[in-house]
Amino acid sequence: MLQKEETILKTYFGYDSFRPGQQETIAHILQLNNTLAVMPTGGGKSLCYQIPGLSRSGTAIIISPLISLMKDQVDALQSLGIPATYINSSLTSATQQKRLNGIRTNQYKFVYVAPERFESSYFVQILKEIDIALVAFDEAHCISQWGHDFRPSYRSIVDKLATIPNIPVFAALTATATKEVIQDIQRLLHIQPESVINTGFERENLSFHIIKGRDRTTYIRSFIDEHPEESGIIYTATRKQTDALYESLSKHGIKVGKYHAGLSEEERKQAQTAFLHDEITIMIATNAFGMGIDKSNVRYVIHYAMPMNIESYYQEAGRAGRDGEPSDCILLFSPQDIRLQKFLIEQSLMDDQAKQNEYRKLQAMINYCHTHSCLNTFILDYFHDASTETCGRCSNCQKRQEKTDITEEAQMILSCVKRMGERFGVSMTAKVLKGSKDKKIQNFNLQSLSTYGIMSRYTEKELAERIQFLIAESILATEEGRYPTLKLNRHSVDVLKGKRSVEMFTAPIPMASEADYPEDLFIALRSLRKTLAAEQNVPPYILFSDATLKELSRYFPTTKEEMLQIKGVGEKKFDQYGEVFLAVIQEWQADHPDVKPKIRIMDTPAPKPKKKEDDRPSHTVSYQLFQNGKSIKDIAFIRDITTQTVENHLFKAYKEGRPIAWNIFFTEEVEELILTEREKLTEPTLKELKKALSDDYDYTTIKAVLVKNKYM
Ligand code: ADP
Repeated sequence: MLQKEETILKTYFGYDSFRPGQQETIAHILQLNNTLAVMPTGGGKSLCYQIPGLSRSGTAIIISPLISLMKDQVDALQSLGIPATYINSSLTSATQQKRLNGIRTNQYKFVYVAPERFESSYFVQILKEIDIALVAFDEAHCISQWGHDFRPSYRSIVDKLATIPNIPVFAALTATATKEVIQDIQRLLHIQPESVINTGFERENLSFHIIKGRDRTTYIRSFIDEHPEESGIIYTATRKQTDALYESLSKHGIKVGKYHAGLSEEERKQAQTAFLHDEITIMIATNAFGMGIDKSNVRYVIHYAMPMNIESYYQEAGRAGRDGEPSDCILLFSPQDIRLQKFLIEQSLMDDQAKQNEYRKLQAMINYCHTHSCLNTFILDYFHDASTETCGRCSNCQKRQEKTDITEEAQMILSCVKRMGERFGVSMTAKVLKGSKDKKIQNFNLQSLSTYGIMSRYTEKELAERIQFLIAESILATEEGRYPTLKLNRHSVDVLKGKRSVEMFTAPIPMASEADYPEDLFIALRSLRKTLAAEQNVPPYILFSDATLKELSRYFPTTKEEMLQIKGVGEKKFDQYGEVFLAVIQEWQADHPDVKPKIRIMDTPAPKPKKKEDDRPSHTVSYQLFQNGKSIKDIAFIRDITTQTVENHLFKAYKEGRPIAWNIFFTEEVEELILTEREKLTEPTLKELKKALSDDYDYTTIKAVLVKNKYM
């Protein structure tokens, strides 16, 4: 079945087999049944109408509400040697006329148009005169008034289309259809229930993570450190957050772009192009960015703050990993996000009923941030998509999450809040705990409190982070208001009385996927792709996806036949780019004669690279990071454990025979002094020694001296 179409799949697109739902959709279209395909982003919807379009005679007309996507799709088809064009308002009228003439004379296999085009009777007249292969509605949910992105101009063309008698079949495609939307599309386009192909929403290559109680900017910096060179989008809730994060990351030498509605059109366009062309790998943006962004090699999407509902979250996060490679979707949650979203709903011009609806959706989003069950399942349940198994990839499924007991620290924080009269906010409390010399502290005479400086070994940021965590866990309450003050609640009292312990989740930064191919070859191929793409002024991923470059690096083909076996390399692509890529592979191979390619078993997809499992003992991980030059504070941050735990890890590693640079803990004089003091004691325990020494020597220093001299 579909032999001809399978050949097209192989020769044009370079793929061996269809993805779920593709074959069925294509078969229905070819039988001239109006068809609706509901597939997740990255599921391969384009091929569902492109293959019948190639297989049938005549021109396929694709209606797309996204101007930016049209050019991308046309570039991609042209790079496969397929005649295609688009018409929208961005073109001069002379160019439009030229292309219209081209359509009239059957020069194109694919024509992408915006819905508005059907307002032109001239255009409609041309369509009536030509041989049409099919008409496809991309982003078909926009046609429905129940869709979250309803466009009236889209719906109104249905009547116009009814006046064109020579349209043989309609295909509708979407990633975001609820039951109502599906029914609405079916009704409008006369689609029978058996011609609705719905593969569900699951994105198996995405790992979802919720991170709470962390300083967001520091977390993002650490994440970028762990994922250098990878392309990612960071969504913020407001323009102000975009600007601030952009400043902060740029100051740290990280090359980033930014995009929000407050920038000029030119600035936005420049940033978007630089991102699409891999000139900048990271984009910080509000939700104004992304509609129509088809960049397939986005490896992560971080939400700097909680978005307003699961629909937007899944759509934005879903921009990661369109190429099917493993990708991360991270949401940095803080309780203040809830207040911001409520404020945005309150400020909006919606009527009361619509507001209630938004509050309901917001509550589901909040629940997502707090659930302890599988995040993937939670989302699929929300969309009423049957999900039976937990994903095993999300931060809740990964049992690698460790817990650290921070009861003692929590008690210090809570008692400080109490002593401050429950009249101050997070930052003042952090300052008091730190023992800050800030003038404001003196103004309120807070330096005389017994809790002043009791947590001086932490930075104010770390303290603020701990306080935020206690708020997130409802162990501390906040009074609403412009400057929310901290209040104790009954949970705080339980902690203070020692009736309840406090554990902080450890959410390690998701590691980059383990490469099962030589990374330097991948980098060389990527750089060649970038050069070629720049010459042709198209985004690099249009030439070959990251997935294809990884396959090339895994199997390093040396002949045309071998290269045609690679996923994403068809005859047409090979004719255009094959030889140059082969040359780079051959050159690399000559330099690495000992490296053997993986054996490719035909028709078996390459195994998905697994996330690195860190099964080393915890103290070894800390020690390794320390030896790599990370400070104790950095390690504590990266691993989300206390600095004290890191110190204990290092001491343990030393006891196992690994070297430690002791001078970071004490000088020779201090060591001698502590040892002398120890000699004087009859019962030289750590506690007694601390008592005997002046306050200048903290527990860590004393402990370090004792460990080094094997007294502990
Ligand atoms: P969607 O429009 O559903 O978001 P696309 O049509 O952009 O997805 O396809 C996503 C990616 O998957 C593209 O890089 C495409 O080339 C690739 N793809 C599509 N079909 C297949 C297939 N059968 N085998 C392998 N890759 C495919």
